[in-house]
Amino acid sequence: MSSAQAASLVINLTDSEPGFADEIKELGGEELLECIQCAKCAAACPMVLAGFSFFNKRIIQAILLGLREVLLDDSSIWACQSCNRCTEVCPREVNPFEIIQAMRRVAVREFALPTMSIEGLKSLYDTGHAVYLAGAGNTRAKVGLPEKPPSTVAYPEALKELQAIMRKTALADLGIIPMNGFGVADTCEV
Ligand code: SF4
Ligand code: SF4
Repeated sequence: MSSAQAASLVINLTDSEPGFADEIKELGGEELLECIQCAKCAAACPMVLAGFSFFNKRIIQAILLGLREVLLDDSSIWACQSCNRCTEVCPREVNPFEIIQAMRRVAVREFALPTMSIEGLKSLYDTGHAVYLAGAGNTRAKVGLPEKPPSTVAYPEALKELQAIMRKTALADLGIIPMNGFGVADTCEV
């Protein structure tokens, strides 16, 4: 189901899963129950401006209602820009951003993640960048920048360290992306 479809979604509360809030709390959303649904986080959230049906406040509400499958069936949780504005404005120190991250962990465990996210993870492992602009080297040079940015792309040893860390995460156990050998940042044109 797309976010646009979810705008007209009729939610059946008999689908509610008791204990879902506890699952989110265990995965990093510890302050979930502190939310008073004041909507300050929503007022600051770019996901609202972009028209997504679920955003910080509504994701929290859906979790509290136990709507696990509804959230897994919607792409909204992947639209969070990690700007952390919601965390800054929340009067209850709920940290909505971390709750969305916890919800993403649930989705990853269920393999309910979009292709774009899988590509981003693969790029992160291979280059150290979730979004990797292959072929940007000439453009960078034209504006006086080094062809490679001063990141894992330019420092292969740092990339190896990042890959070693990633291989120790639950991502490796899930096998969503190939994690053998070392990346391509030191061989690809940038
Ligand atoms: S997370 Fe914070 S800002 Fe957002 S609705 Fe709940 S209490 Fe309000
Ligand atoms: S961190 Fe995510 S949920 Fe919070 S304001 Fe930014 S985009 Fe919205």
